[in-house]
Amino acid sequence: MKVGILTIGNELTSGMTQDTNSSFIAREMKTEGWGIAAMMSVGDSESSIAKGLDYMLEISDAVVVTGGLGPTSDDITTASIAKAFGLNLYTDKVVLERIKERFEKRHLKWTDNNIKQAKFPEGAEIIENPVGSACGFFLERGEKIVAVFPGVPGEIKRMLPEGLLPVLKWKFKGSEKGTTRKTIKLFGLTESTIDEAVAQLDIDLPGISIGFYPRFPEIHVVITSVNKDRYALKENLEIAEMRINERLEKNIFARDHETMEDVVAGYLKDKKLTLSIAESCTGGLIADRLTNVPGSSDFFERGIVAYSNPSKIALLDVPHSTIAQKGTVSEETAIAMAEGIRKISETDIGLSTTGITGPAGGTPQKPVGTVYIALTDGQMKACRKFIFGWNRRRIKEISTQWALEMLRRYLIGRDI
Ligand code: ATP
Ligand code: MG
Repeated sequence: MKVGILTIGNELTSGMTQDTNSSFIAREMKTEGWGIAAMMSVGDSESSIAKGLDYMLEISDAVVVTGGLGPTSDDITTASIAKAFGLNLYTDKVVLERIKERFEKRHLKWTDNNIKQAKFPEGAEIIENPVGSACGFFLERGEKIVAVFPGVPGEIKRMLPEGLLPVLKWKFKGSEKGTTRKTIKLFGLTESTIDEAVAQLDIDLPGISIGFYPRFPEIHVVITSVNKDRYALKENLEIAEMRINERLEKNIFARDHETMEDVVAGYLKDKKLTLSIAESCTGGLIADRLTNVPGSSDFFERGIVAYSNPSKIALLDVPHSTIAQKGTVSEETAIAMAEGIRKISETDIGLSTTGITGPAGGTPQKPVGTVYIALTDGQMKACRKFIFGWNRRRIKEISTQWALEMLRRYLIGRDI
């Protein structure tokens, strides 16, 4: 089975937007064991869409199209595809009602161009969009299939696995082996260390392959199992996962779709503990990530971004003398910040960060990238010093990840 990927949009061909949809689709298809015939981007033009589609259909069994399903006049994908196949458009009443409901719920003004998003070529099967207004659709053309999705990356990420992969598996089953995979998320080791550790395991199981995907600051190890035998498919994946677990357990923080903040939030809720955070160099990123988790109000009391020295003194009760004698970026200040926020907000745990993100402000003693992260529960207080070698944004991101990792270790009773 070969898949062609056609992305549509003037923003792609003008270089304004980078085509990330193609790589996402290719990855999804590859993990199913399917090949990619080609990837192509065309502008919002009827003839380019028709020619692109024609070529893709010639060289592949399934074509995945993204972009141009919106309500505006430059969104012409549906109409162009219908025309290319000589099909009329029909209005789907259920989809139309749902779009109207969305408008009412959000108190948005209705304009008739929105009807466009409820129009589909005759014979199309609709692919639901759980996170946006534009539904996708697929059309069968003899033995082949064309599937069309909106351009918004977050939408296709939800729609493709739920709405298209089962259809493709069903349509092309028999010629395909079963595939299943497991993502293991690691933090705190370099890619080469993980690579070496996994290589030493010498996992030699039929149909098992192991891939490494750095997703800064995390590293994801993906085990893929391809097998005709349903039992061996699962069994081999489980053996491979178990062996990686045994070797790298300490650095594994989550699996599959779980995030670091999901895991930390889960422990805090289970243990009924509350948390407050005093952030300096992370600028609120820790609070942002934790409050992305639904139900975070159960454990998250407050987060303060105390960036200046006066704010650390006024809002967190950090003694003036600590800052004067030890410096803003020091173990003593980090601990005083964590203790201060914990006391003021009366939570079980206080967490803090202070550091130098650069590019200026470094000294030989405290170079750019020096970060202190402290955690206290009133009795125990711990602080770690890091020297990161990244740029400003990455220092913020990796500091945030380490703060969450320290919290995770504390919550599972491990050394911080
Ligand atoms: P909408 O209903 O939002 O208009 P649409 O299907 O019309 O959806 P587009 O207008 O083409 O989609 O794109 C919506 C957004 O998704 C834009 O911000 C665009 O930059 C982005 N986008 C479109 N195609 C891609 C792509 N191939 N890779 C990454 N981003 C994309
Ligand atoms: Mg659009």
